[in-house]
Amino acid sequence: MINIQKYSYHTHNNSQGLFDGKSSAEEMIAQAEALGFEEIGVSNHLCVHPNVPLNTSKMFFDNPQKAIDIYKKMYNELDEVASRHKIKVFKGFEVDFFPSATWRSWFEAIIKELDYDYLIGASHFICAADESFLCNIYHLNRLPADTDSDRMQEYLRGYWKNVQGAVESGYFNFIAHFDYCTQFDLCTTPEWDEIKQNVIDAFSSHKQPFEINTGGIERIGRPFPDWNMAEKLVRRGVPVVISCDSHHTSQIGRYFVEVENFLANIGCKYRFKLQK
Ligand SMILES: [Zn+2]
Ligand SMILES: [Zn+2]
Repeated sequence: MINIQKYSYHTHNNSQGLFDGKSSAEEMIAQAEALGFEEIGVSNHLCVHPNVPLNTSKMFFDNPQKAIDIYKKMYNELDEVASRHKIKVFKGFEVDFFPSATWRSWFEAIIKELDYDYLIGASHFICAADESFLCNIYHLNRLPADTDSDRMQEYLRGYWKNVQGAVESGYFNFIAHFDYCTQFDLCTTPEWDEIKQNVIDAFSSHKQPFEINTGGIERIGRPFPDWNMAEKLVRRGVPVVISCDSHHTSQIGRYFVEVENFLANIGCKYRFKLQK
């Protein structure tokens, strides 16, 4: 019998009707407790950028103060729910990282105001090299019609630049689904192998923990990152955590058994766990 990880730090809820979870904080925490989890981390999106397209989601902000007010309210709610449950509740964020000085100064100002326990680094956007244009990978159908293939290549390189920057930034406890774009069949041809290898090298040299995100198993039959890249990182001794990226109570702990079997088979020794 192998031990199955009894916590997830990557979960979402529908706080204030703004975030993209389908269940409430109360429902998510109660379900984690019912499943016998030892800990649950709540990681709604922190997505703040001067050029983020506000018309695509209510959880995107182009104003740091507005974001801070919403995040504080969300954390107050969480404290209240946590106080009524036995399970240890951690407060986190899934942060969309951008390399620009503006983004960094905004991000640092925001997190200084918040009583968070941990931060997950992520990239959900393709973007121009100077960040003058961003597009969430979920909203590719909204790309301007005149986006030619050279422009698209630049935007896709922007995706990987953000992943690499997140790894190198030192801001994050672990990095989410780093090949997320491949879900949409982007960057799956061999010409992208070198960029992916550079990212793997960065994880390894920075000893930056990464997640194996089981949401991909449900959506496309394999996790993020794919089994092959996950194995490379594990064999290099990069710490790993399993994440369910749950947006609904029914998804908490999904496919953890499959990933535990994979990790046992390749002799994984280093696991990420919050030390609080
Ligand atoms: Zn994500
Ligand atoms: Zn997520």
